[in-house]
Parts: sequence; C-alpha cells; structure tokens
Amino acid sequence: MKPDRDVIIIGAGAAGMSAAQYAARSNLSVSLFEELGTGGQFLLIDNLENYPGFPDPLPGLELSQRFEEQAVRFGAEIQTAGVHSIKKADRLFTIETDNGTITTYAVILATGAKHRLLEVPGEKEFAGRGVSYCANCDGPFFKNKRMLVVGGGDAACDEAQFLSHLTEDVLMIHRRDRFRAQRALAERVKKNPHIEVRFNTELTKILGSQKVEKVVLLESTAGKTYEEEVSAVFVFIGSIPQTELVKDLGIRFDEGGYVITDERMQTGLPGLYAVGDVRSSPFRQLVVAAADGAIASHAAAQYIDELKGEAYD
Ligand code: NAP
Repeated sequence: MKPDRDVIIIGAGAAGMSAAQYAARSNLSVSLFEELGTGGQFLLIDNLENYPGFPDPLPGLELSQRFEEQAVRFGAEIQTAGVHSIKKADRLFTIETDNGTITTYAVILATGAKHRLLEVPGEKEFAGRGVSYCANCDGPFFKNKRMLVVGGGDAACDEAQFLSHLTEDVLMIHRRDRFRAQRALAERVKKNPHIEVRFNTELTKILGSQKVEKVVLLESTAGKTYEEEVSAVFVFIGSIPQTELVKDLGIRFDEGGYVITDERMQTGLPGLYAVGDVRSSPFRQLVVAAADGAIASHAAAQYIDELKGEAYD
C-alpha cells in the first residue's frame, strides 16, 4: 500500500526545517507538522553570532524564516497541527494529528526540548509575573531593574549577556563553583561589569505579593541563607527532551531521556529518525541540528528506496 507521504517530520525548529528541505529536494513527498509557529530555539536567540556563514550577528527569527522559505520552495508542506500518536504496522507509520490521520514510510522526530523547572516555592505562582524562561521575550519588561539569572550553562551565560544590555544590575547564580558553559561565553560573562556572578549559590524561594519582589538564596559552602531584592527571575537550567510521542515504540533513550540514534540519526525502529535537541548528542547547537536534519533525510531517502525496491547497490 502506498502511504500518504514518503516522510513526515514532527517539529519545525532548525532540525525539522532542515530535514524538510533536504527531503523535499530529494524529491520525496514531505509534510512537516508543527503545533505552534515555526522556529523552535531560533526564536529565543536575539543575535545569532555563531552560525557559520553569517559573520554579522542576525536575529534567530530571520534565519528561521529563511530555513522555512527554503524548505517550502523545494516543495515541503508545513501543517500547523499537533501530533497525538505514532504507530507502526508492517512497513508503514500511521500518525494521528489535529488535521486527521496520515500514513508514511518514515518519520523524523524533531520535537526538541522544553525548559527545565527549578521547582522551588514561588516559581509556578510567579510565572509570567517576574519568573521567566526567555530573556528575549520578557527581559524588556524589566529594563533598568535588578534581575536574577539562575544557571551555569551556555543558555544562562548567553541570556545573562542579553539582559546586561537592558540593565546594569544582573545577578547571576550557579549552584556549583564554576560554569558549565563554553569558555568563551563564561569569560565574557565574568568580565561583564553589569553582571555579578555568585557561585555555590542556589535559589530556594521566590517571594512577592502580586509580582516577584525578593528571592531567598542559599550560599551552599557556608550553608547560609539570605534575601535579595530582584524584580525578575530568569531560569536557564537545561531542558527536558520532548519524547512523549515515541516513548512506547521500543527505542532507546540515554540517562537524560534523549533519544539514542546511530550516526545516520536512525533510532532502533526502522524508518524512525530523531534529530536536533531531542536526540542524544554531546553538543546542542543550531548548526548541529541543521546537520542532523540533513543526515536524517538522506538516510530516510535511502531507506524508502529500499522499501520500494529501488535501492541502488
Ligand atoms: P545545560 O548545558 O544542560 O546547563 C544547565 C545548567 O543548569 C548547568 O550549569 C546545571 O548545573 C544547571 N542546573 C541544572 N539543573 C539545575 C537545578 N535544578 N538547579 C540549579 N541549576 C541547575 O543547559 P543549557 O545551558 O540550556 O544548554 C543546553 C544545550 O544548548 C547545550 O548543549 C548548549 O551547548 C546549547 N546552547 C548553546 C548556546 C550557544 O552556543 N550560544 C546557547 C544556548 C544553549 P551543573 O553545571 O551543576 O550541572
């Protein structure tokens, strides 16, 4: 039986849109499903400065739009619809979506990851009222105010840098005694006169009446807690991969819950590929996600040729 599409891609970030472009350009029929708008992690980047080939920083949104335009120009279809389930029987996948059921030879999972929560008192209560997970989106509301950044990875350092353009008063705390972030980013933060860094410090409580007013911090080496006045708390403590759709398909995950693939982005289930931030990978970057997408589509095209008996030996 011939399926509705050769390839279905789920998620329209860098990995998904790159996969769509490569699949469409290989003359495969391809639909990309995205529940929200296209863009994924692109949308969180104010000035993208490390994407190869773009020496002048450009907004993530702009590069995202170019990815989308290119995928569509080669013939990929983008559907704004959620995906509810993926099942495989014989050689075909059946996918339930907000737009109905669709069948396909291959599925490329590009669902990314969502931010991890601190899970301290006050975090949920003040979400959207001073607690944020996106400096680009919410930073401008707290211009010239004292802001707290929690985290020690690349995202925390990047976002603290961004916030330091809005205020001269960024307090950054990290639970350990050094940053996890890439050295270049970490050094830039440490040298930034608008950012005060406190290591071995944890956030234990967020306080306020209508909005964030204060936080309780724990200096872990001395075991001392104290209060600090801040107007906003920006949390960047990593992410949780979005694997709900594939958790019952018998594939493998690493200890962080990310999908394990081989170097061709193939999971343990033939025809199912995982790319970008949902995949177990040592380095999560837009350029890596874009490359993952290209590799997966190339592998899927060969897999589909084999299914159709058109493989070239
Ligand atoms: P990450 O690298 O996993 O770092 C998460 C940070 O949060 C770590 O410093 C971790 O502390 C801390 N953390 C985790 N759970 C915590 C908790 N419950 N309480 C307090 N702190 C906690 O995550 P990320 O910074 O979001 O980066 C994710 C990926 O995106 C990385 O691969 C990164 O390279 C990439 N990225 C790259 C760029 C760039 O190149 N410009 C920008 C953003 C993201 P420990 O260090 O103690 O574990």
